[in-house]
Amino acid sequence: MHSGHESTAAVHAGARRAKPYHSLIDPIVPTSTYTFDNTADLVSYMEAHLAGKDEGRVEYGRYGNPTVSAVEERLAALEGAEQAVLLGSGMASITTTLLTFLSAGDELIITDDCYRRTRQFCGEFLKKLKIGCTVVPMGNYTALERAINPRTRLLVSETPTNPYLRVLDVERFAEIGRRFGVTTLVDSTFATPLNLQPLNWGIDLVAHSATKYLGGHNDLLAGVVAGSREKITAIRETNGVMGAVSDANTAYLLLRGLKTLGVRVRHQNDTGLQVAQFLASHPAIERVWYPGLSSHPDHETALRQMSDFGGVVSFTVRGDLRRTSQFVDALQIPYISPSLGGTESLVGQPALVSYYPYSPEERHALGIADNLVRLALGLEDADDLIADLKQALAFI
Ligand SMILES: *Cc1c(COP(=O)(O)O)cnc(C)c1O
Repeated sequence: MHSGHESTAAVHAGARRAKPYHSLIDPIVPTSTYTFDNTADLVSYMEAHLAGKDEGRVEYGRYGNPTVSAVEERLAALEGAEQAVLLGSGMASITTTLLTFLSAGDELIITDDCYRRTRQFCGEFLKKLKIGCTVVPMGNYTALERAINPRTRLLVSETPTNPYLRVLDVERFAEIGRRFGVTTLVDSTFATPLNLQPLNWGIDLVAHSATKYLGGHNDLLAGVVAGSREKITAIRETNGVMGAVSDANTAYLLLRGLKTLGVRVRHQNDTGLQVAQFLASHPAIERVWYPGLSSHPDHETALRQMSDFGGVVSFTVRGDLRRTSQFVDALQIPYISPSLGGTESLVGQPALVSYYPYSPEERHALGIADNLVRLALGLEDADDLIADLKQALAFI
């Protein structure tokens, strides 16, 4: 279910062959507002806008920007979507989408093992708006169907999840959504459009934190949602009010980062599998979670729907919280840092990064073990990363 043309799309999609000044590269257009030639020009624009026609221009920076539009077209092509909208961060893409499709009295269903802030947005903020949220276990499709009721408007899941890299059966998720007439949204940040294209499996909306693999260089924050023209237009209109927009400079960095998406992700996929296999065979390691290993609970689904398994490996070491930290501190190449998908490898203990504000009991209830490590591979050589892991594991 892959076009096989993702690398080409990542370089070329959305780019006009003829650009201003015969420039090869898309221009950065750093303007907050746009001008009209005269009053008649302004009035004809307003009339067209009221009639719902595409005027081919905008009036103000919160409603659009040419550099932002260029990257939106490329992202839409990468996901096989009619349209995409760029937002100020991955969280903005999730929150703005949920606020677009949910009203007081509605409900959404979300799978567990998801990004902590998404869980917080549903549990705290949506609750204040009288929007209900049910959490179902990832991989339990019977529980998912049972949780659907006439008030359910959205089914939301990540894939692969964080930190256990559980893989959603996107075909089944989409089929359940269609059968019950409920919109499906998948946060596909960990998969990238290279490894999975959720819309091709019938999912309605796909979101990414473009901060991660799409940007790819640990130097920008952005988010994207892709889907049908109708749904993306609705999200765009919400964002014209909410204001979580991206800007021309960020869009340019993203356009630049996307050009190497194909080679970067392929390298990260290869390193991911090699590192996962090395860790699985090491006596100081208790367990490895990587969808490319046959020991992973969702390996079959991953084989069927994903073209490769990504650059994040999670594992538990044979030790407590403190010993695990000693191992992490002994690593020379990865930086201790949240985030993933960039050029530099990053490592962290979820118990001390995302889940630090939680009590040990709360963490354990969510399945976040003290000896769990998440390693997000960058673009270094696999042999160097494996040698580094080997020397650090001597401390366990
Ligand atoms: C990082 C991340 C987000 C949030 O994205 P930001 O760009 O940091 O706002 C959402 N979902 C997943 C799966 C992520 O990894």
